[in-house]
Amino acid sequence: MRVYYDHDADLNLIKASKVAIIGYGSQGHAHALNLRDSGVKDLAIGLRPGSASAPKAEAEGLRVMDSAEAARWADFVMVVTPDEGQRRLYNEDLAPNLREGATLAFAHGLNIHFNLIEPRADLNVIMVAPKGPGHTVRGEFARGAGVPCLLAVAQDPGSLSHETGLSYACAIGGGRAGVIETTFREECETDLFGEQVVLCGGLTALIMAAYETLIDAGYAPEMAYFETLHEVKLIVDLIYEGGIANMRYSVSNTAEYGDYTRGPRVIDDETRLRMKTILGEIQSGRFARDWMLENEVGQTSFKAMRRRAAEHPIEEVGEKLRAMMPWISEDRLVDKSRN
Ligand code: NDP
Ligand code: MG
Repeated sequence: MRVYYDHDADLNLIKASKVAIIGYGSQGHAHALNLRDSGVKDLAIGLRPGSASAPKAEAEGLRVMDSAEAARWADFVMVVTPDEGQRRLYNEDLAPNLREGATLAFAHGLNIHFNLIEPRADLNVIMVAPKGPGHTVRGEFARGAGVPCLLAVAQDPGSLSHETGLSYACAIGGGRAGVIETTFREECETDLFGEQVVLCGGLTALIMAAYETLIDAGYAPEMAYFETLHEVKLIVDLIYEGGIANMRYSVSNTAEYGDYTRGPRVIDDETRLRMKTILGEIQSGRFARDWMLENEVGQTSFKAMRRRAAEHPIEEVGEKLRAMMPWISEDRLVDKSRN
């Protein structure tokens, strides 16, 4: 597998392009601000009329257009709106307006891999997918670091897709950490699997189950919060820095012995079997279908789950405890009024 770095890329390719970023959310603001700092001058943000994001982008001095206008103007269009609306965005605003031979880029492979979008044959279709949350893509770049990116090409009529994608990936900071060449299929399936099983779903389910176990046994919410949520970051920082062995070096022998002997009883063969089933649902397209159907009915159960999860007591006790640790909110990654 090849990994590319800044010295493998020609930054001039993206600097010479008119770049439109459609969407100014988690990924959009990060791409736009990093591109500008990398010297991309012809830059515009594409949004829908009346968008709540427009004033945020304008406050940064960015040029805002509506999506159709941005598609007519740009050579390179990065789509960073929510996945569930991209099919309609493409069909209504982008497909009729994109220039002949333009590059259409995505930050996740779902719509292309599952044929929700079937791009015009003259378009170069690529993916530059940062392997981290948008706010981290911006935060790391601003401190001189970067988040690794995946690069893939689905259509290449102009024969420059790889070079242009690499140039873009480096301009948003990916070339500092590593840009890995992959396919839409591989990115899409592994990305969904990772977020469902470990990063979002698995981790939060593990935290909640442990928190509720302690509460049910009569322990104080504050204790349970520190033990099952707050400390996750402290442990993950050690793993991130030097691997699992690095974390085990730092914790006590007692903790390490508990890790080897109890961990595999929490995540056992049955859990692994369920992981396989979940991967199968991703590969067969069943997950994508379920999610798109959920959107057809206005996200009714999605919104209910979001509301109920936000009302859980763990959020309440967390808010109180974090208020006593003001350093946590200094240099916040997420500031909802700006990005
Ligand atoms: P967000 O939910 O943060 O995107 C919201 C932005 O999209 C807002 O600016 C919103 O504007 C705009 N938007 C929504 N609908 C439209 C539309 N029809 N036309 C124009 N603009 C619209 O998205 P994310 O950044 O989370 O995700 C974007 C893409 O990046 C997805 O493909 C995702 O899979 C991928 N990705 C995301 C990661 C992340 O960290 N979140 C990580 C890696 C990849 P308005 O104010 O009008 O609502
Ligand atoms: Mg992901």
